[in-house]
Amino acid sequence: MNKEVQYWNPILETLPREALEKLQLKKFRRIVRWAFDRSTFHRELYERAGVVPEDIRTMEDVRKVPKVEKSMMRTIQRKDPFPYGDALCVHLDEVTEFRQTSGTTGQPVYQPDTWQDWEWWAECWSTLLWAQGYRPHDRVFLPFGYNVFVAFWAGHYACEKIGCEVVPGGVLDTRARILKIQELRATAMMATPTYVLGMADAARTGLAIDPARDLQITKITCAGEPGALVPATKRRMEEAWGAKVFDHAGATEIGAWGFECSHQPGGLHVNEPMFLAEVEDPDTGEPVTEPGKTGKLVITALDRIAQPCIRFDAKDMVEVSDIQCSCGRTLRIFKGGVIGRADDITKVKGVLLAPSAIEDVVRSMAELSDEYEVVIDKKGDYDRILLRVELAEGVGADIKEIQAKLATELRVKTNLGYDIEFHRYGALPRYDVKARRFKDLRDKEAH
Ligand SMILES: [Zn+2]
Repeated sequence: MNKEVQYWNPILETLPREALEKLQLKKFRRIVRWAFDRSTFHRELYERAGVVPEDIRTMEDVRKVPKVEKSMMRTIQRKDPFPYGDALCVHLDEVTEFRQTSGTTGQPVYQPDTWQDWEWWAECWSTLLWAQGYRPHDRVFLPFGYNVFVAFWAGHYACEKIGCEVVPGGVLDTRARILKIQELRATAMMATPTYVLGMADAARTGLAIDPARDLQITKITCAGEPGALVPATKRRMEEAWGAKVFDHAGATEIGAWGFECSHQPGGLHVNEPMFLAEVEDPDTGEPVTEPGKTGKLVITALDRIAQPCIRFDAKDMVEVSDIQCSCGRTLRIFKGGVIGRADDITKVKGVLLAPSAIEDVVRSMAELSDEYEVVIDKKGDYDRILLRVELAEGVGADIKEIQAKLATELRVKTNLGYDIEFHRYGALPRYDVKARRFKDLRDKEAH
């Protein structure tokens, strides 16, 4: 295929590794210098670590620069200028966008962007949407509540930039959104996996619409949760909608850093010309480079200027791989995408447990619905994992066989035993946007 047709940016997306790393280092030095010169927060942070921008000469030197954690961002926002604090590197007048984090793990963090930053957001999203096959002929429906969270705002702007036709589904309810998709014959949409499955359920049960048969959606871009790269969840979404489902990873403080391309290589490409992704051992902080090994993501947005994101501890766990994607991009791939939050991937009975592994087993069984909950607590001196699952609609009450199959699969895939609770269809909580299915009730101090 013609390169100009295949890639949004044929040069950057196919750079040889050596040239790519050279570009990354150049940009990294530039953003460190920018932050050092223009923000009190960064200058003090670097001075305390005994680092000045001139010390960064090689890729190895990158690790000399101190990491930034979300909790630090919360603290600095009590300082001037209001409401962002002293990590701001531009004059307040230059800020054109306000966003904030969802605050599911604590007090929200405010995020300023300049217009240049906002164009950069749209460029990052254009790269990923183009890679997923979005083209000017697409009519893209956004079933998303346009509000203070960044979510699909940048997806909207990127669709316009590419030349797609964008239908904002803002304050419409789920039912009205489905009907609008049908009425306009929309060809693509973006949502969290939880909402993609929820919409399909609502279409079938409430409107007698089978999305795979009656709607013309061919592509769905997911964000906000890892589900689109959990094989069984991806399969459920693709079957429900008769569409290709693609994952994407990003965050308010970071940007849109990773995407699955249309070749679906089983992982996320890192948008490396725009981001420097490092993987480190969560316990020792040592770099993880060996394929097959997992670690915590430390990430830098190389071009974001208002409130730079330099060596940000994303608390996301990823698996290093040497997968060469058939799409021809030279960008590295994290196998399985974001495989969990560093806080959620926890040792239970001495075994490392990733919630996505449980999800994959539950959703691979047709007898079970999309919903489940995992609660880890203590039973006497021992860790107990309670898994609540729900029978699929119309599945009878004889659960013995289902239970045995589920327990075996879980044992094989996660090396752990579970207390399993069955519920009738509709009994477990439904989530509108992001689900909170994983609860660890053990005393954290003891682990
Ligand atoms: Zn690819």
